[in-house]
This record gives sequence, structure tokens and C-alpha cells, in this order.
Amino acid sequence: MSDKTEHPPVPAAFAALGVRNSILRGLAEAKFETPSEIQSLLIPPALQGVDLLGQARTGTGKTAAFGIPILQRAEKGLATQAIILVPTRELAVQVDAEIKRIGQFTPIRSVPVYGGQKIMAQMKFLKHGPEILVGTPGRVIDLLDRRIINFNNVRFVVLDEVDRMLDIGFRDDIRNILSRVKGIRSQEEGARDEGGGGARAQTMFVSATISEEIERLARKYMREPVEKLIAPGADEKPTVEEVAQYYLSAEPWDKYRMLRALLEKENPDLAIVFTRTKRGAEKIAKRLHADGIECREIHGNLAQNKRDHVMKGFRHGKFDVLIATDLASRGIDVADISHIINYDIPEDPEVYVHRVGRTARMGAQGKAFTFVQKDQGDELTKIENLINMVIPVAKVEGFEPRPPPADWTDAKPGSYVPTGEAKPVVNRFERAYSPSAGASGSSSAAQQPVVIQAPPRTIGSKIPINRRHKRRR
Ligand code: ADP
Ligand code: MG
Repeated sequence: MSDKTEHPPVPAAFAALGVRNSILRGLAEAKFETPSEIQSLLIPPALQGVDLLGQARTGTGKTAAFGIPILQRAEKGLATQAIILVPTRELAVQVDAEIKRIGQFTPIRSVPVYGGQKIMAQMKFLKHGPEILVGTPGRVIDLLDRRIINFNNVRFVVLDEVDRMLDIGFRDDIRNILSRVKGIRSQEEGARDEGGGGARAQTMFVSATISEEIERLARKYMREPVEKLIAPGADEKPTVEEVAQYYLSAEPWDKYRMLRALLEKENPDLAIVFTRTKRGAEKIAKRLHADGIECREIHGNLAQNKRDHVMKGFRHGKFDVLIATDLASRGIDVADISHIINYDIPEDPEVYVHRVGRTARMGAQGKAFTFVQKDQGDELTKIENLINMVIPVAKVEGFEPRPPPADWTDAKPGSYVPTGEAKPVVNRFERAYSPSAGASGSSSAAQQPVVIQAPPRTIGSKIPINRRHKRRR
């Protein structure tokens, strides 16, 4: 009789990088067969203890690239040896989950810590002295100040999404945290302490984009010689080439109708609709709900347990459409996101790349649609320059623009969602496209709208809206 306890085969290519058996089993369980490029580049020097700067496109497995060496080199039973700093709560949960999954056959434990969660609840997990801490900067400082954790044993410091972490918003927090790590001095004090005072922490900083300025800031916390490892294709310009990208012309008062029409034609398996404002996300979610489309919203106004719940539901395909502010765009990895819809075009072109990078993860197929208002041609051009591609225009079959409704005022903030209905008119407008704007490619081909005309089907409604249970504890 055959052996019923089927173990997936141990991934030999990871073994060749020097990864230990207990971790190989976790990788096999996670169905990681071959290392991604950044993993091949990063894991061997990371196992040697070298300070590393790693750059690779989103969705190429940077988490495991720093997670595997930490799992391998951490010592069982010694609290807080690794501190992994991430910009968002969602990312803390996600990175922690990935490390737990890969490390499931090791004795090394990881705990996520982030604001918005009861500190008492976290203390319960921290009491057991987990070797790895994955957290947002604010909460980590809080835990340090309250002496719930200490950095006496820290041997690994990771800044995930390092460009964001050393960006102005987080810079002071990071400086505060890193100044408390043995062997890392604050930037003001200049070079890093290389004195022979025993253990020193290894730094591993990763992101999809690392500008010169960020690299300069990062190196101040690192010990030379720093190895900078860039996965092929990561380079200077971020690429989202695998994603089929389109833009759609729509005036603000028409965008909601267009969203509905697009969702109907495209019938996405899993879609994220991005808005600029929390209010916009709320309004769209409410309206889609009213229109019978199963969706949820995620933004900073939601309580943390709600946000966790929404992300979990989305990950498990409990609903098809997530309405999100940019909070959710960084680093969030949900497999099989089929569509990204930029209801509001981002002002910062980098944000576009982060949003669109949520789809077509690990080589999957994905589509991205960006709604562009008449006065937003510049934003579109900036994006095209950044990604070095011309984004073709698309039209939703049967969708006709309408004039502004009676209650329209120009002062309406972003993500306008109409309350009433307006009469249709035939009034086409296209973005004035200038081929000299710097983007490459055939401009005449780009002018021909792609018609979105998949057969309309009913969408959403996998779970009736009213069947959401409230749990008490
Ligand atoms: P990044 O941080 O580079 O954006 P993630 O670490 O979030 O990427 O990984 C993206 C997805 O790819 C995750 O679902 C992860 O589990 C998966 N993944 C990572 N490495 C591999 C691999 N070697 N083989 C298969 N899947 C992988
Ligand atoms: Mg990541």
C-alpha cells in the first residue's frame, strides 16, 4: 500500500541556497518549488550575515527572501531577535502569516504588533517571548517605551518597503527605533558602531523602488560593505507590464455609473477599486451594496478588527469587490486579484504602480482600468512616463457619458457618487493625447478605444448582504 501521508517534495533549489531542512518542509507545504530571483540573490548572503539592500518588483517574494534567513539563523527561545518593520497594519499581519507558514516546522515563533489592536491582547502573545516581531513603527515604539519588549537580543533588523519607511512620514520613528538597536547608531552620530562589542544586528532593507536618496539614508544604518542586490527587471523604472492596462474617460459625475457598467462587463473574480478618499470609498461601497453588488470597504476610518476581517474575507474570496484607499495598496498580497480599478487616478504616479502591482502577482493574469477625468490628462501622462508605456484608451460598450446632474457643483470633493439619475446624452470626449508627451509606443494605435464588451452577467452576491453575523466574546 502506498504511503498515505503525502509530503510534497522538498524543493531542491532552495536546499541549494543553503536553506535548512525544517524550512524546506515549510516551503514545500507552501508550494514554493523554485526560489524567485530576489530570493536566489538574497538568501545566501543573508545567511552569511551580510547587510543587504534588496530591490525587486512587487509580488516577487521579498518576504520569504528576508524571512527564510531569519528563521534559519534565529536561536530558539531568545525573545525579540528579529524586528521586522512594515508601514501598515495589514502588512504586519501578512508578513507575519508568511513567516509562520514557512516556519511552521521550526521552533521559531513570530508575532505581529500594530496599533489599533489592544495592547493587552498583544502582551499575552509577547509574554512567551517570540523570536520574531513584525510590527508597525508606532506600536513598536510604544511597546519599547512601556518596557513590554526590549532590544537586548536583536540580531536582525528588517525594513520592508524601505522607501516608505525612510520617507518623511516614518523617518523619525525609524530613527528612534534603530537608535535603540545595538550596533546601529543614530544618523546624527555618524557611522555605525563597528566596535568589537560582541553581537551586532544585521540589516536587511527591501523594496520595489529604492531611490538614490533612500539608499543614502538607508546606508547610514548599515554596515559596509553593504550588498545591494537588484533582481533583474527591478531596475530604476517600476514595471507593471504583465498587467493589461487601460484608461477610461469619465467625468466625476459619471464615474459611479461607469464603474457599475465596467463591473458588469468584466465580471471580475476579485477586484480592488481604489479611491483617493475614505469618504469616497465609503460612498461607493454603500451605493454598490444598494445596487446588489457584494463588496466591502477598507480604509483608515475602520476599526482594526474590521480591517482584519475585511482582508480575511477578501483573501478567502468571500466577496468580489474591495473598495480601498491607498492604505491597502502597499505590499498587500492577495492571490488571484483579477482587476484593479482606479476610480480616482492617483496624484503620485508611484502610487499607480503600487496599486496596479496588486494584480498579476507571481505571473498571474491581471487587468487594470483607470478612470481619467478631462482635466487629469497630466496625471495620466506622468504615469505613462514612469512606467514607460502608453496606456490605451478603452470604452465600456453601451456606456454613454451624461451631462452633469442638477445637484452637481464643481466643488464636489473626489469620488463623487450621485444620489439621483441623470438623462443620457451623446457627448463623447477623449483625453487630448499628445504623442510628444514623452511616452513611447504607437500613438495612433493608442487612440483606438478598446471596447469592453464581455457578455453581461450578474456579478457579486456570493454571500447575501444581510447574512453577516456579529460575534461576541
Ligand atoms: P513582495 O514582498 O515582493 O511584493 P511577497 O513576499 O508578498 O512579494 O510574495 C508574493 C506572493 O508570492 C506571496 O503569496 C508568496 O507566498 C508567494 N511566493 C513567494 N515566493 C515564492 C516562491 N518561491 N514560489 C511560489 N510562491 C512564492
Ligand atoms: Mg512585500
